[in-house]
Amino acid sequence: MGVIKVIEDKCVGCGLCKRVCPFDSIRIENKKARILDSCTLCRTCISACKFNAIVDEEDENNTEHEEKHEGIWVFAELCDNSVAKVALELIGKAKQLAAELNTGVSAILLGSCVEDAVKTLQSYGANTVYVVEHPALESFNCEKYSKIIVDLVKEYKPEIFLIGATIYGRSLAPRIAAALETGLTADCTELGIDKEKGLLLQTRPAFGGDLMATIICPNRRPQMATVRPGVFKAEEIVCPEPIRSETEGSKTGCLKTESTKIGHSETMCPENRKVIRIQVSIPESRVETLEFLEACSAGFDISAADIIVAAGRGIGCRENLALVEELASLIGGVVGSSRAIVDEGWIERCHQVGQSGNTVAPKLYIACGISGAIQLLVGISPSSVVIAINKDPEAPIMKVANYAFVGDVVEILSTLVDRLKRQKVGTGK
Ligand code: FAD
Repeated sequence: MGVIKVIEDKCVGCGLCKRVCPFDSIRIENKKARILDSCTLCRTCISACKFNAIVDEEDENNTEHEEKHEGIWVFAELCDNSVAKVALELIGKAKQLAAELNTGVSAILLGSCVEDAVKTLQSYGANTVYVVEHPALESFNCEKYSKIIVDLVKEYKPEIFLIGATIYGRSLAPRIAAALETGLTADCTELGIDKEKGLLLQTRPAFGGDLMATIICPNRRPQMATVRPGVFKAEEIVCPEPIRSETEGSKTGCLKTESTKIGHSETMCPENRKVIRIQVSIPESRVETLEFLEACSAGFDISAADIIVAAGRGIGCRENLALVEELASLIGGVVGSSRAIVDEGWIERCHQVGQSGNTVAPKLYIACGISGAIQLLVGISPSSVVIAINKDPEAPIMKVANYAFVGDVVEILSTLVDRLKRQKVGTGK
């Protein structure tokens, strides 16, 4: 826990800190600022002071950020032994950030039989892939994964560590951050680099999406952030097959095989590609995976859909979902939902869009009987075209809709489905 203190030699008593303090915890006495006991350590005064006269003692004592930390790491989450799309999206973004920092991008991959995943990570731009391969890591286990990753972070010291805000990532990232005593910004919607200080700028919605907060982690490493699927774009890089391999010992005594991969065309694949294989002893865990049950039809991924027809509580009952499904199938879309009908048990959670569901970026999103609560809207890309069907013209969804039908959702859906069917019969398509 830090202590905010005033460096009296530097303080000129200008009173700016007092004016910005949201908790009225600063007094100006004898032309010097004095921090009162009611200080909440919010640090607003530190940022505001133009004379660098206010500091957090903890920052002063902490020299961790001065140690050499380098490179951007991305957690290579696996889904059925294939790299999850969000990890590839993060590698794409990490490449942009790395270019600004003049550093490299590494993927950290844990699992069993991961050769295909290694190739995928390389082809999407990971300069280095750290591989921890063991049968005991075949399925995600938060305790084992976090302990192994924490050790690797301590050894290799990345500057930035990005993790997908998936169910796995959301349980993994805070454990890693807590063990490393560093900060973590969850659910970022934008990442950038402060050119002057080289810090990661982590932007995310705050206060229910009413404003965007840009958060920095100046004194701890790595700077950690999670990002939901669909926020950034994954870009495959054309890269030829690896051609060279060699073996090397580990800094910490663990056996490490390093195969350096160099493309045969410098223009197509200018960077060296490395795979660093690490043997670790598998940590104990109190959790054992007995079996996996499919929550949704295999391969269903709402975050990749171009057209979503989504149902909310306004559809009235589970049976009326058939109309939504029919419309979706007629226009080549998939069915989405608000959380309300997931909670009702009308549809599986993998269809849910929003803060506690999936992030989507469809070209078209049709909201059927959905109010448009902020927790739902934050899950939909602002670039999506939204059509709302709602009986209430004042519903919040109407404010973001590009087109709207005001009326009973069942009647409107029935008419739409009917017309589309007749049109299809008419055109023979
Ligand atoms: P309602 O709010 O009940 O709205 C129903 C709408 O249907 C109304 O606008 C109504 O006018 C309309 N309607 C009713 N009858 C008809 C009819 N016959 N014809 C036409 N229109 C009709 N919600 C999510 O969706 N996704 C999330 O990820 C999510 N995460 C959350 C996380 C947190 C921490 C919290 C606190 C909440 C979260 N919520 C989420 C819940 C969210 O706040 C709303 O409660 C939810 O989105 C409401 O769902 P809804 O619009 O289907 O239902």
